[in-house]
Amino acid sequence: MRTPDFDANGDASADVVIVGSGVVGAMMADQLVAKGHSVLVLEAGPRINRGQIVENWRNMPFQNRAGSDYQGLYPQSPLAPAPLYFPENNYVQQFGPSAGSFSQGYLRVVGGTTWHWAASCWRHLPVDMQMQSAYGVGRDWPISYEELEPYYCLAEEEMGVAGPHDPALQSPSERSRPYPMDMIPWNYGDIRFAEVVNPHGYRLVPIPQGRNVRPWQGRPACCGNNNCMPICPIGAMYNGIHHVESAEAKGAKVLAEAVVYKIDTNEENRITEVHWFDADKVSHKASGKMFVLACNALETPRLLLMAANERNPQGIANSTDQVGRYMMDHSGFHCTFMADEPLWTGRGPAQSSCMVGPRDGDFRSEYSSNKVILNNLSRVEAATTEALKQGLVGRALDDEIRRRTIYGVDLSISLEPLPNPNNRVTLSETRRDELGLPCPDIHYDVGEYVHKGAEASHRQLEFIGKLFGAAEFHITEDLNANNHIMGGTIMGADPRTSVVDGDCRTHDHPNLWLPGGGAMPSASVVNSTLTMVALGLKAADSVAKELGRGNA
Ligand SMILES: Cc1cc2nc3c(=O)[nH]c(=O)nc-3n(C[C@H](O)[C@H](O)[C@H](O)COP(=O)(O)OP(=O)(O)OC[C@H]3O[C@@H](n4cnc5c(N)ncnc54)[C@H](O)[C@@H]3O)c2cc1C
Ligand code: SF4
Repeated sequence: MRTPDFDANGDASADVVIVGSGVVGAMMADQLVAKGHSVLVLEAGPRINRGQIVENWRNMPFQNRAGSDYQGLYPQSPLAPAPLYFPENNYVQQFGPSAGSFSQGYLRVVGGTTWHWAASCWRHLPVDMQMQSAYGVGRDWPISYEELEPYYCLAEEEMGVAGPHDPALQSPSERSRPYPMDMIPWNYGDIRFAEVVNPHGYRLVPIPQGRNVRPWQGRPACCGNNNCMPICPIGAMYNGIHHVESAEAKGAKVLAEAVVYKIDTNEENRITEVHWFDADKVSHKASGKMFVLACNALETPRLLLMAANERNPQGIANSTDQVGRYMMDHSGFHCTFMADEPLWTGRGPAQSSCMVGPRDGDFRSEYSSNKVILNNLSRVEAATTEALKQGLVGRALDDEIRRRTIYGVDLSISLEPLPNPNNRVTLSETRRDELGLPCPDIHYDVGEYVHKGAEASHRQLEFIGKLFGAAEFHITEDLNANNHIMGGTIMGADPRTSVVDGDCRTHDHPNLWLPGGGAMPSASVVNSTLTMVALGLKAADSVAKELGRGNA
């Protein structure tokens, strides 16, 4: 077993230095250490304990819980802040016409943001990777779906994804292997919703998800208690921490509270060292043969920009001013109504079924596609809030909470953005964190493509509402963020218009990889983490090949 070396000052050296221990960094660490390489992972945030997070959630004020405050229950290191919204800490500040729709949630802790994700594990459609060729909008990827497909299979295997074995229920059905496990069984609401909407082309299908129907690689089977966001109490839902622990067991070293802030390069523009601050604000450095930044699509461009050095005055990997551009998320909105029959949603895991009928079509040359999740989070909190507003008490209050819970529907709609170079992360000139490092600013405008897609989606939802004899039909006006942060270090064949190649390797630095959401040239309309992980696994192969060639 090869392990990183440390000297008396706490400085380190390893074959591979990975910055960020989220699902992308942790999975790469696990792959590379399994191949016999020494791996050091530097993670800005603290280690956390699942039981404590469950307690924090239980003890949160009702208003935070009802407002889905998924950030506040996770501890933050004062040296590695992440967004907070109750109250807002303004660590990330948004500007531009769609500023409010880019209020992202992400965690800076060992294991990263998938501690509180919903575990939906979608693939892009093959056509999603050829948007310019097929529809004349957006960008084509420099790699094809077929090249990424084996890595999708590996990602699904590693994350223990349960998805439908029936090709008619898959999106896409272009697969070389079945899902590791068949789909999580549907509840009554999913079955009934499909019966009503599917004859009209909406195609409600099971969501492939990182939850197991039987014990899987040390995880217990999902017991359907519906607490997945913000924490699965029993660890049945896949979280990045599973691969942190797996990599550590194989000999990788994961340092918590290690905030990377500086990157050194040599005359060939190879990366030689990264520098980090420990919890006492003491600076250390790590040398390596290969370097990976997997800090997510917002923190990676921030780090590249703030690590500008003499040879790279605009920032690392930024010789053509592309770092920080093409930021994307699946902006979305909600549609709620009371159906004219009980649907009993909220039984089983938080995500269960989704309409993918509007996911693709020729209309994408003019406006965004959409997908519609039949939100399966328990309706009790929303129902209670509404019932209390009516001033009810005693038995009448109980009855109204029950009625609203079983008849209530919440649809969560996502829209597909196009990559726009002006949607951009930059470094704040006024705000700094406790280490004196500049905080991120975001300029964001979803543009006409998304606004027109939202209008088309409104018409579809009004039709669906009629199918259910909807009362209290309501569509939220503002676009919300969906926490699928993409862009910022975009992939392409041409170094003038991109930051990384098809292996997520930077054009500027031969031994630096930037895997994950930052590289994605198109967003599709589905949740993006499985694609981020597939890109990370492809990058891990590229790093291993390079080490095998002895290029160090
Ligand atoms: C509420 C919620 C629900 C979600 N649901 C889904 C879903 O159902 N399906 C889906 O596909 N996606 C979902 N997502 C998105 C998903 O969580 C992210 O896409 C995924 O976690 C990204 O993984 P990552 O490894 O790239 O980054 P992260 O998980 O964010 O990890 C990055 C790590 O890098 C560390 N880091 C950052 N800067 C530095 C630095 N300077 N030095 C050292 N370390 C650093 C951070 O501390 C962090 O731990 C959801 C997100 C949220 C918030
Ligand atoms: S329903 Fe969600 S919280 Fe409950 S066991 Fe399954 S994954 Fe975990």
